[in-house]
Amino acid sequence: MKIICIGRNYLKHAREMDSAVPTEPIFFLKPESAIIKKNKPFFIPDFSEEIHHEVELVLQICRLGKSIAPEFAHRYYDKVGIGIDFTARDIQRKCKENGLPWEKAKAFDGAAPLGKFVEKENLGDVDNIDFKLEINENTVQHGNTKDLIFPFDELIAYVSRFFTLKTGDLIFTGTPEGVGAVNRNDELKAYINNELLLDFIVK
Ligand code: ZN
Repeated sequence: MKIICIGRNYLKHAREMDSAVPTEPIFFLKPESAIIKKNKPFFIPDFSEEIHHEVELVLQICRLGKSIAPEFAHRYYDKVGIGIDFTARDIQRKCKENGLPWEKAKAFDGAAPLGKFVEKENLGDVDNIDFKLEINENTVQHGNTKDLIFPFDELIAYVSRFFTLKTGDLIFTGTPEGVGAVNRNDELKAYINNELLLDFIVK
């Protein structure tokens, strides 16, 4: 399976990063070895002094597809979950400055904690899904899919022009504003529509 991650898909996050607002989706990949499941702890890696949280809704692909038309894209995912796109911001900054790929900053072991998934049909309007991240009981990021620059169906259509999507593939759909550093002993809790789906400790 593969994990496709969308960058800069919320306007206020693009602005807080001093990044240009994209005119087409930006994406990168994480390997399967980045996944952490079952609320297991995240260990801060020794190569970074600045690990940032990016809470994101995650689509789970449920059928094989290539060059999917936007009007059919909704048939290609059946579950929505929540995860963290952990980012070694100090490493990413150096990669960007030198025009190098981001993998070291984004794809390392443990960089993709994943919570429980919810059936799409139980979520109602997918263009109005609320989600948030708490650290030590304080809300640090809060998003809603109505603010997506590229909605889910457009992401699936765009990405599938380049990659055949397979059952079980995941798409991280981008983070809202409020990204910031995590520290040892922080407890991260992520919610979709106020349902707690991910809860783990940073070590
Ligand atoms: Zn992200």
